[in-house]
This record gives sequence, structure tokens and C-alpha cells, in this order.
Amino acid sequence: MKYIFVTGGVVSSLGKGLTAASVGALLECSGLRVTFKKFDPYLNMDPGTMSPFQHGEVYVLDDGAETDLDLGHYERFTHAKLTRLSSCSSGQIYETVLRRERAGDYLGQTVQVIPHVTDEIKRRFTTPNEDADITIIELGGTVGDMEGMPFLEAMRQFALEIGKNNTLFIHVVLLPYVRTADEVKTKPAQQSVALLLGLGIYPDILMCRTERKMTDEVRAKLSLFCNVPINGVVEELDVESIYEVPSMLHEEGAHRIVLEHFGIEANDCDLSPWTNVTRKIRAPKERVHIALVGKYVEHKDAYKSVHEALVHGAIANGLPLDVVRIDGEMAEREDIRGLLQECSGVIVPGGFGDRGIEGMLRAIGYAREQNLPFLGICLGMQLAVIEFARHVANLDGANSTEFDEMTPHPVISLLDEQRQAVNKGGTMRLGSYECHVVSNTCLHRAYGQELIHERHRHRYEFNGAYRDILTSHGLCISGTHPSGLVEAIELPKHPWFVGIQAHPEFKSKPHAPHSLFREFIRAANLM
Ligand code: GLN
Repeated sequence: MKYIFVTGGVVSSLGKGLTAASVGALLECSGLRVTFKKFDPYLNMDPGTMSPFQHGEVYVLDDGAETDLDLGHYERFTHAKLTRLSSCSSGQIYETVLRRERAGDYLGQTVQVIPHVTDEIKRRFTTPNEDADITIIELGGTVGDMEGMPFLEAMRQFALEIGKNNTLFIHVVLLPYVRTADEVKTKPAQQSVALLLGLGIYPDILMCRTERKMTDEVRAKLSLFCNVPINGVVEELDVESIYEVPSMLHEEGAHRIVLEHFGIEANDCDLSPWTNVTRKIRAPKERVHIALVGKYVEHKDAYKSVHEALVHGAIANGLPLDVVRIDGEMAEREDIRGLLQECSGVIVPGGFGDRGIEGMLRAIGYAREQNLPFLGICLGMQLAVIEFARHVANLDGANSTEFDEMTPHPVISLLDEQRQAVNKGGTMRLGSYECHVVSNTCLHRAYGQELIHERHRHRYEFNGAYRDILTSHGLCISGTHPSGLVEAIELPKHPWFVGIQAHPEFKSKPHAPHSLFREFIRAANLM
């Protein structure tokens, strides 16, 4: 097994995750098998308890692990099979170390960051030894952050132990463009690399995020002052679509540097999957406008996977896409017709808490009445049930007990096991569950299968006590779990109106767009 470590410098939000995923994609195109691990220095056990306003989306794996959104990039860009062990926080490391300390496992030693915490980090670099040729390990945060230090020290030790030709370091930096000087500046990158060098880490590749092309002079300067061979200075320009990054890094020869460093003889890199995707994205056609009505719209990354799955659905239909983000609270106040007038489809994604709920309900009601294609995901499905209950089945005040515990009609409510859950972290219905699909439904036409599996992350459920009354008014239950839980609903009289309790967005990829998003965009395009 070979290991690639990806660190970041200068500023956060440089797209380290995308870079890591793109390098992985290129290695896959060269015939290698890759896997990923993400280490995050925060103390939360996982991002499951963090607000999307702060941290962006929580990405869910098949096994129910709640992880950083970078794992979404890894899964979208490659075939890596990720698990709970692919994502690790300082909180998890410390929890393990402290549990071992209480158990007396350290046999009287003083338990310290070095070696005990760093040993635990190193152990997690290699466990489990997956079926892959290369493991790409990304460290969250920026070099120089205090809480990241034990991870960098563990990387240094690890590289020493398993040898230089088995490890490769990629450092992602920003080259800011200073307008008054009309120059791309290398000093912040130099200083960030100097920090790394001081920690005993010598980057092999310097990924330079820049909005302007680098001149040869800049490359030479970075190489000399950052102690990186000239061909290891790789330009990573801003691009319109994230799916152009693999092709761009290919042009820069990033994969060749990796292969040469490891001494791996690989196939010629077959980039066709990526060039196909970018060609489709660039095809000039009429755009399709989709309204995304939710609570966290102002945070760019809060609906990352939903956004990408919509992009994939548009790619599948050969259409450029515009996602119009509408804040749920704004939809409460403003004229809904005006807000949605340019849109030919409405999507309401997942979310928690009551902020903006009534606005989302208005958008759903509008989509239902105006025959606008609608896709409700998790919270979006629950709200579609509430809207239907209130306005079609005449159940006044129908609600979810999440928003109104005293509602006369709790059409969405908690199961007993959720009512008893004391801790908030890791106690939702999480991970992949099966769903039986009813024939002759939109859901069935989209999936073309009777049995589907999707990832879940929610506490509340469709309340079975309301099943008969809602279906007698025309709600179709198009998917169920073997236990009887409702997994999907739709409106047979509507051209395309689907709500699904799970999160299909987590399984969509640019070359394998998710069928539900593909069909949603297709229906919207027919409007
Ligand atoms: N808040 C809802 C629940 O917990 C929906 C969750 C979600 O959309 N992920 O059931």
C-alpha cells in the first residue's frame, strides 16, 4: 500500500477535498485502486451534531457513518467504498486513548500526545488494510492550526517508518492575485511550506490554487523557495465546474508525478469518463431552472450533495442547470408565485428545526397546485405529507411533532425507539435501508427496480395512523420498508411529484447520475 497525504496551507476552503478526489480519479483512470481517509482535528466525535450553517452538509455513508462532506467528493469522483473507518476526528482519537487509559492499557505510563495520541493516529492511517493500491489521506484545516499538529507529527513519523517511496505529500496552497501589483503572489505559499518543512514534512507536490495562470517565473520561484522539484509545482486554476479538475490536473501531469514517485507502472490514463462529463456540461442549450427551497441556502456547502446530484441529473438530460436558492423564511413572507416564476421544478431538501418550514410548505403547495415537478427529500417528503394533509385531506393544523408537539394531526412523528433516545449524536435512523417500490409509480419508473437501497438520516417518520385517511384522499405510498415504514410518497394526479424519506443524493455520480434526479430534471424540462 502506498499513501498520499494531502494538507492545506494559507487559507481554508481551498478545495483540498476536491483535489484529493481528483488525484484519486486520475489514479483510477490509470487502472489503480484508491481509497480515502479524512482526518478532522475538531473534538466532535463526528459532524453529525454540527450545524450545516457552520460546517456544511453532513455526508452519510452506507454504514450510517455521519461524515465530512469531503467524503462526498471522494465517492462522487471514484469507486472507493468508504466506511465509518474512512473518517476520523480528534474526538474519536482522544476517546479511544482515554478509554484505553481507564482500562489500564498503558501499564502505568504517563499518557501523552506524543506518543500515545500520535500512535493512535498512525494506527488509523492503516486500518483496515483495504483492497486498494493507494490510500489518500486528507487532513482537515490548515497547516499551522494548533489542533492539527499531532496529525502532522504522526504523518512525519509514519513517512519515516514506511519509507519515502511509499508516501507522497501534496500541499495545497493559495496564490493570491494582488491587483494593485498585477501579480500572483507566492509569499503566503512559501511561508506555509516553511511551516511544513519545520515540522519535518517535505511536500512532493505543491498544488497551487490560483485564479490567474502561473508564469514560468512563478513556477521556478515556488520550486526553489518551497523545495519542490519544478514538475511538482502544479497549477490548479479556478474552473467553472468541479468536474473539470481531473482533466486539468491531468494536463499538468499530476498523476505522472505520483506514479513516478511510487515507481508504479500503470496503464495510460484513460480520461474519457471525465472529458465526456465536461463536454456535456459545456453543451450550450436552454437552461433548466430548479428552485431549491430550504433552511440553509445561504451556506454554499450545506446542500452540497443535493446540488451535485441536480447537476448530474442535468448532465444526464444534456441540459445546463440553474439552481435558484430560496430561503424558507423568505418564502414565508414573499409572494411564492413571484419567487418561483422562472423555475420549472421545486426541490425541498433535508433539514432540522422549524425555521422556514411554513415557507417550504407554501412552495410545495404551489408545486402541487401548479403541476410543477417536485422532489422532496427527507424533510422535503415529510413537508409534502403535511401540506397534503392540511390542504387536500382537510386535516387542519396537521404537522410534524418536530415543529408542533401539540398538533391535532401528527402526520409525521417519532417512533418509540426515537422517543427514548437520550443522546443526540449518532442516534438517528442512519445509513442504508431497503425500500420496496410499488409498480406503476414515478418511483418505479425512475428506478426500474422493485427493491432499492438508499441512505437515511432522520428521526421522524410518516405516522402509520394517517395512512388510510391520506391515501383515501389520493396520496400514493410508493415505497415502504419491510417493517411497514413509509419510505416514499407521490401524487398520481400530478405530472411528477415525489417525496422520499432517504437521501438519494448521496449516491449520485457525474458519470452515473441518480435516476431520481435524472427523472426529476427530465420532468422539469418538459414544463
Ligand atoms: N428533521 C427531520 C427528521 O429528523 C428530517 C431530517 C432530514 O431531513 N435529514 O426526521
